[in-house]
Amino acid sequence: MIKKAGRKRLTLSFYQYAHIDQPDIFRDHLFLQWNKLDVLGRIYVAKEGINAQLSVPALFFHEFKRSLDDIDFLQGVRLNIAVEQDNYSFLKLKIKVRDKIVADGLNDATFDVTDKGVHVNATRFNELIARPDTVLVDMRNHYESEIGHFQGAITPDVDTFRESLPIIEEQLQDAKEDKNLVMYCTGGIRCEKASAYFKHKGFKNVFQLEGGIIEYTRQVKDQSLENKFHGKNFVFDHRLSERISEDIISQCHQCGKSCDTHVNCANEACHLLFIQCEECTGKMDQCCSQSCKETHGLPYEEQKALRKGKKNGRRIFKKGRSPVLKYKKESSPEQS
Ligand SMILES: [Zn+2]
Ligand SMILES: [Zn+2]
Repeated sequence: MIKKAGRKRLTLSFYQYAHIDQPDIFRDHLFLQWNKLDVLGRIYVAKEGINAQLSVPALFFHEFKRSLDDIDFLQGVRLNIAVEQDNYSFLKLKIKVRDKIVADGLNDATFDVTDKGVHVNATRFNELIARPDTVLVDMRNHYESEIGHFQGAITPDVDTFRESLPIIEEQLQDAKEDKNLVMYCTGGIRCEKASAYFKHKGFKNVFQLEGGIIEYTRQVKDQSLENKFHGKNFVFDHRLSERISEDIISQCHQCGKSCDTHVNCANEACHLLFIQCEECTGKMDQCCSQSCKETHGLPYEEQKALRKGKKNGRRIFKKGRSPVLKYKKESSPEQS
């Protein structure tokens, strides 16, 4: 049908934290509006806001924009237009009511998610992080900041977003009153909530990088600003990362050689995410350990029999952590 319609589509995304009393009614409203405009995509609506990834016919873009501006809390919302356009990014319009717009494991009732920090663009961000009275915090997980982060950032050694909040709060006890707390993440959405959390915890001067590392990189290129991000930006699609600067700040978890290429262990029953250089990939058949390599080498039916009845928690919770990885740093939050 898309092909027949023969029109160009724009793939874009946006999110906004807001108080939505009746998400189901809001959902129906959006569906009626957007279905008319042939909008496709996956949208989550919750009492805490909206998180949308969609594709809009170029022809109807202005009507679509108007449908957003008609909604109080979506007026002027930043739309992230995908760099690589793909007419077939979505095939249906699905708008779902969920408990949360991002699964973050936090209990919202304790603080107001719309009371967030001050958004700063790349220029202002560069100025802020150069100041001695600023503390810069990376709100991402350890395997993300390991391959790339901003110069001087605190990079908590955590597996989940929820875990990082109390650790950072504890570490920055003395910074609440008179320091600037500046934070960043991949696309900005984690900082929306983190900034509200830290304001609730008594931090007075809270700032967040608008649009995250993705938007920062765009502005740096566009306006020829100084790039203060070193290494690669970890992304959550099949590419796994985008190179932002030529620096390689991490090492192969198996041989220790300078390397920032993530792979998933080729043993289906393991799938561990870790950093592996080309040489080790060849030597180990892209496996994390000798035993995974042996399993991976078995006929498929035998592998399946081995997997039967075994749960695989590591796949979800232990990204990039395993005792078999000799060069994986196991450390507490550190200044780098
Ligand atoms: Zn290696
Ligand atoms: Zn493995």
